[in-house]
Amino acid sequence: MKISNLKGTVELSNGTQMPYLGLGVFQTPNEQIKDAVHAELDFGYRHIDTAAFYENEDGLGDAIKSHSVPRNEIFITSKVWNSDQGYDETIKAFNQSLEKLQTDYLDLYLVHWPVKGKYAETWRALETLYEEGRVKAIGVSNFLQHHLEDIMESGKIVPMVNQMEFHPHLVQQDLIDFCKKHNIQYEAWSPLIQGKAFEIDLLKDLSKKYKKSIAQIVLRWDLQKGVVTIPKSVKKNRIEENASIFDFEISEEDMKRIDALDCDGRIGPHPDNI
Ligand code: NDP
Repeated sequence: MKISNLKGTVELSNGTQMPYLGLGVFQTPNEQIKDAVHAELDFGYRHIDTAAFYENEDGLGDAIKSHSVPRNEIFITSKVWNSDQGYDETIKAFNQSLEKLQTDYLDLYLVHWPVKGKYAETWRALETLYEEGRVKAIGVSNFLQHHLEDIMESGKIVPMVNQMEFHPHLVQQDLIDFCKKHNIQYEAWSPLIQGKAFEIDLLKDLSKKYKKSIAQIVLRWDLQKGVVTIPKSVKKNRIEENASIFDFEISEEDMKRIDALDCDGRIGPHPDNI
């Protein structure tokens, strides 16, 4: 991935430019979201990842409205929650998300989880929203290869993004390769393992070697693997630290050492158990 600064984007299969690095806001309460989002926009990020499930779309809408960066310069992702899946329910959920976010379009809308017996119809609703121009790109989250193959067979549009749990303990390289082959951008959730990355010895050693924080090592590894990433923080200093990853490079040998930490170690649910 040839990205050399925080404004760098990846091009999705339909030509949409998606900023490589974004701010995740899972577990960011409405009371804290304004400060977090203003810190990220001030520092130069232009990408925010939320979901109806996080119950902070309204706070996020206010935060964006009250900042001087215009809406059309910010890439906003949201997701349809499991209990809202199905064709009509998804359209309704999308409208509610737009209302809360105080916007008339989304940059990316994702199916949050592959709910059995529902996700094909949910995907059909996303295709409608896309064809109507109400969302610039559509994708999925937590879809394994067989889920992707399912909707690629039944649907008209191949998902543009697959947002997955991805970090040094859970790489799923076969799935990354499958997505690459089909031009589906891979995106990491919980890139810092919700804090557990800071306990890994190899990452402590690499942090000393490169004179970078553990968070920066992990997020730089994401970048060099071609995976879009959305670390969450509510702290200004960490938001800035997490985006300061463009002034060093991890050697090929050290990239492989980080890859080798993979132990199929999930922190979230298995997508087949939804
Ligand atoms: P992360 O792996 O991003 O870790 C977040 C935790 O790390 C927080 O406790 C944060 O604390 C801390 N942290 C962040 N930066 C630093 C730093 N530089 N130094 C030390 N600690 C740090 O976890 P998330 O689960 O939040 O994942 C990121 C985003 O992915 C979510 O916010 C959400 O947008 C998305 N997501 C999507 C899912 C899906 O199913 N599609 C599931 C889960 C997440 P603090 O805030 O106090 O700084």
